Amino acid sequence: MSDFIVSARKYRPSTFNAVVGQNSITSTLKNAIKSNQLAQSFLFCGPRGVGKTSCARILAKTINCENISENIEACNECVSCKSFNENASFNVHELDAASNNSVDDIRRLVDQVRFAPQIGEYNIYIIDEVHMLSTQAFNAFLKTLEEPPKHAKFILATTEKHKIIPTILSRCQIFDFKRVGVNDISNHLAFVAKSEGITAEQEALHLIAQKSDGSLRDSLSLFDRLISFSEKELSYQSVIEHLNILDYEYYFKVTAALLKNDINLLLLLFNEILDNGFDGHHFIIGLSEHLRDILVAKDESTLQLLDKGEALQQRYLEQSKLCELSFLIPALSLCNECDMQYKQSNNKRLLVELSLMRISSILHQMAEKKSHKSFVVSLNDQKKQVSVEKVTEIDEKIEKATESHKKPEIESNSEIADLTPKSIPRISLSSKKKSKTISITAAFKQMNEKKDVEEEIDISKLRNADFSATRMLETWKEVIAFVKQMGKSNLGITLGVFLPELKDNHVIELPLSNHSQVEMLLEEKYMILEFLRNKLENDYIEITTKVIKGGESNIPYTNKDKFAKMMEQNPHLETLRMKLGLDPDY
Ligand SMILES: [Zn+2]
Repeated sequence: MSDFIVSARKYRPSTFNAVVGQNSITSTLKNAIKSNQLAQSFLFCGPRGVGKTSCARILAKTINCENISENIEACNECVSCKSFNENASFNVHELDAASNNSVDDIRRLVDQVRFAPQIGEYNIYIIDEVHMLSTQAFNAFLKTLEEPPKHAKFILATTEKHKIIPTILSRCQIFDFKRVGVNDISNHLAFVAKSEGITAEQEALHLIAQKSDGSLRDSLSLFDRLISFSEKELSYQSVIEHLNILDYEYYFKVTAALLKNDINLLLLLFNEILDNGFDGHHFIIGLSEHLRDILVAKDESTLQLLDKGEALQQRYLEQSKLCELSFLIPALSLCNECDMQYKQSNNKRLLVELSLMRISSILHQMAEKKSHKSFVVSLNDQKKQVSVEKVTEIDEKIEKATESHKKPEIESNSEIADLTPKSIPRISLSSKKKSKTISITAAFKQMNEKKDVEEEIDISKLRNADFSATRMLETWKEVIAFVKQMGKSNLGITLGVFLPELKDNHVIELPLSNHSQVEMLLEEKYMILEFLRNKLENDYIEITTKVIKGGESNIPYTNKDKFAKMMEQNPHLETLRMKLGLDPDY
């Protein structure tokens, strides 16, 4: 292995055309050379490993070449080119400001600037990581940059453009290097693999390209590392194993299970992923990326944003046909919610599992909503009755909201909101009666307009398992835990103050102390209902609330009150308190 040269060095581009993924920059530079309008100082900005230094060297070589081709490339044959290619040119001076950032370092460089080159036309000074120069060094350099001799060109390179002072920025022609696209990187890797006699699967190279985050240099180092494991052959499987990447196969499977609302399969898949040593957070981020890719694959115009190999692109296209936007957008938003809450969560596994359940119930809820509506539409006699119920519900909501002098906040994805035109939240207090009438009429209209396009949904598919009041109460505890898990601890506490009661027709009635608690519940009612319906396997469950008179004063706030409340339930506590000599005030 002594003669091993790292690919990043071995395949460093030596002409503008060989630079990968920076076409606009190389063609601008070429045009400037051609029209003899080359600036005196350049600032190359951009992420690491995207070709800044390579471009600087190529520029230096090209403008010193005695025999530039028509295509504005260095000839690679003249004396100057040869010395460049052997790294022996006296025309190029490189300073790495990351390690040489003192005033003395920069003075040494500046001292050389006055001397004209002995061979070739220009001396080129490349200062890498120029943002690392100390302020004094910057100042020492500024004068030279202001009035450089004709034979000197400066190329400053940085990964952190925002750290460059304006006086320097204004004196340079600025080039912003982009991250190299995944396809560009994987094509380049394919070229390197071929040149090295390595058989590499396209998907394997694609994966390396994706992992390199737009840095060609990183991708080549990764490529070298993986080759050292796998003797002239690079398979997708080996890359997955060595890079510890979560296989996209999982995401295709998980998405399919989400679409089918197959919660058991989802839990099993997630368990398998955890067993393989992956982190739940990475999984949820990966799932967001997958769903985003599916979203992008849905439209011809955005298909170009899908950075995947051809075979894989096809699979994304196929899965995207199964996913409606009305599924993808809430699903992405739930993934995002999970991602944000992940770090604070005490039970991370449960958080991810619950998120998966919530995503998988999106389609189910949509179907249910449709069935509610088609139920309304298809059964003529019952139509009015059902509709009136809905409208009364809306009325009550508006009433409550306006009473408490607040805008009714109806959650956009609740079933009521679907029947409610968007004008409702803008009701002014003075005209509430009038607006209310209008909105109801509008709600009716909207329902009737929709009826022609409404699909008939098989109501018999709705779940209708029986459950006892005890079972409901047990599940209620899970609801509270779930709500707290979702970061809504106030609501969690509210839900735990009084016990809910199971009424007829699967209606769960929850006593609450005041209207603001009712509103708090209404905001998340949809989420809670979904949880209950999934847990109890019954799609007919509804939640109603009742405000208990004087309920507010019953809530124990102080320690003393709490103790009194606990005493009601267990009088022996007083004996215990006395034995331990505790003061209930503290
Ligand atoms: Zn030449």
